[in-house]
Amino acid sequence: MDDDFLFPQEPFLTGKQPAIISACFLGIPCRWHGKRAVRRDDFLHRLKEKYVLVPVCPEQLGGMPTPRTSETLQGGTGAQVLDEGLRIIAPETCRDVTDYHINGANYTREIAEIVGARVAYLKGGSPSCDIDGVTGEVLKRAGIKVVKVP
Ligand code: SF4
Repeated sequence: MDDDFLFPQEPFLTGKQPAIISACFLGIPCRWHGKRAVRRDDFLHRLKEKYVLVPVCPEQLGGMPTPRTSETLQGGTGAQVLDEGLRIIAPETCRDVTDYHINGANYTREIAEIVGARVAYLKGGSPSCDIDGVTGEVLKRAGIKVVKVP
């Protein structure tokens, strides 16, 4: 069974489980404008006591460049994107970037499954990472607990 996962599961090396985390929380400059966020050291320290953190940026995984456009869900949700055909349009270019967000969400789910993560700490307010964003929705549907972090 453990062969299905990249990390050994029970017991894990350190007694800790893997958890997905938005890469920008670690100071990786993957945000749309390409600037580093201040690294969330206190928050990371608390999580590291319990988890081995696996950083991902769904928008980069989905094939978007950095810097990139600054779209939002315009009041919609990831569920509407997945189920109702809501499209995500970049305001700067009027380009439809929906498929990048869907691809990034699916690749993030694959990574979570590869490492055996059952929880994801994701950045709120992102069309991908928000708990109601595209990635948040895909992870929830895969049975992964999503924790929204402001
Ligand atoms: Fe951070 Fe997620 Fe946006 Fe990537 S997609 S920059 S990880 S909030």
